[in-house]
Amino acid sequence: MRIAFVTAEIAPFSKTGGLGDVSAAFPKAMQGLGHKIVIITPLYKSIDTKKFRLQLVKENIIAKIGEKVELFDLYVSFIPHSKVPVYFIKNPYLYREGIYVDEDGEDYSDSAYRFLTFTKSVFAMLRWLKFSPDIIHCNDWHTGLLPFFLKTEYNDVDLFKKSKSVFTIHNIGYQGIYPFEDIADAELADVYFDEDLLGFYGKINFMKGAIVYSDILTTVSSKYAEEIQTKEFGYGLESFIEQRKEDLYGIVHGVDLNVWNPKSDPLLVKNYDSKNLKGKTESKSYLQDKLNLNVSDLPILGVISRLATQKGLDLILEKFDDIMKLKVQFILLGTGEPELEKKFKKKEEKYHENSSINIMFDNTLAHQIEAAADIFLMPSKYEPCGLNQLYSMIYGTVPLVRNTGGLSDTVQNYDPKTEEGTGFVFENPNVKEFFAAVKRAVKVYKEEPEKWLKLKKKIMNLDFTWKNAAKQWQKVYELAQDKKR
Ligand code: ADP
Repeated sequence: MRIAFVTAEIAPFSKTGGLGDVSAAFPKAMQGLGHKIVIITPLYKSIDTKKFRLQLVKENIIAKIGEKVELFDLYVSFIPHSKVPVYFIKNPYLYREGIYVDEDGEDYSDSAYRFLTFTKSVFAMLRWLKFSPDIIHCNDWHTGLLPFFLKTEYNDVDLFKKSKSVFTIHNIGYQGIYPFEDIADAELADVYFDEDLLGFYGKINFMKGAIVYSDILTTVSSKYAEEIQTKEFGYGLESFIEQRKEDLYGIVHGVDLNVWNPKSDPLLVKNYDSKNLKGKTESKSYLQDKLNLNVSDLPILGVISRLATQKGLDLILEKFDDIMKLKVQFILLGTGEPELEKKFKKKEEKYHENSSINIMFDNTLAHQIEAAADIFLMPSKYEPCGLNQLYSMIYGTVPLVRNTGGLSDTVQNYDPKTEEGTGFVFENPNVKEFFAAVKRAVKVYKEEPEKWLKLKKKIMNLDFTWKNAAKQWQKVYELAQDKKR
């Protein structure tokens, strides 16, 4: 099949979270099955065009937004160590330094227009390339208008006559809701703003557009596929999802072992595998030293996360003093809501010998924490798929998670009696259940080191490759192809 994969971020060029990782790993897996896949993404100013050897393909391609003309230049490069081409839309007036937010962390005031134009630019560049996709695979709200345009404005364009759209919901908490005026330049007929189509309480909702118009909908775990049909998780879109449940599939991501693998990870001080864990011990003392913590064998609890309400970090904050009383160390890496940043920094002042709060985005440190930590905390309120729990397991770091979304699909609660399970799971998002899980984990770590070692080795040997997921994806693409326009 010919696949156009459209995304707002892709590692290592641009990344704020899991979507960036997946946008690189997924297309590689699909190319591995023999498909012809191209990726299309904006060229943000923060992307190092020299380092990544971007080549100019064509200048001044026209994207028409109603009567308005937006010119862009098309560049190409490849995902490192692969043959998957990544096409970049260069429009420096729209794709500035940040991916979603400006230097002050504020949403760009023209967000709706930026991603409307991105969508239109995708059609324009595919036409220029004469690339007729069987599947246009769109991701999250930034690409939400693409399935809509495919079924309306581009419905009769020869190049796209056979194209089917697949839309993946990576996080329904971000929908792209804006006043209609923000996309007035598109000159859409009023009928499309109906509440059954793009309209949402008198505004435009990009993600809803995709839920209504895409041929197939997917999300990133089977549990999350169920959850988003409920009021608690659907963020107002639950009834629209439910209407399309026959076309909804939940597929958990794999992990790209070329990037996340303790055996070969160049960012670690020492590599290791499940047969020889010396490198993990060295990674721990190295990081303790680097972050000015006491070098000791106290269990390290690690967190790498966007500091967003979604991630349930308030549970950690509320129980911080009690957690420290268990005699553990705590390392956090993250950026996000200023309030959370401040609160964690305060905790660091109080427990500076045994806690390290790193408010920054630092890929090297992320890899080093995965290797150094003993327990990885993800007490998320909701978690569509989650990648860090998978990375943790591969690095022999036991995940402690809430039973939601992808965490539920990928981590089974550990019972020290039977030694079944792969992590520590708690059910409801309250401090009591969360802290009980922390105590259970620390207890096994401290009191039953042999069992802990066995658990570590077990999770390192689980299969998180893309093999399974890619096969499921193949089927979903076939189903999309069978859809009538
Ligand atoms: P989400 O997509 O909701 O942010 P995931 O667990 O799916 O959560 O993916 C998060 C990805 O972003 C992981 O690769 C993680 O290492 C990375 N990440 C998050 N915050 C940071 C940070 N401050 N520095 C480096 N990497 C980060």
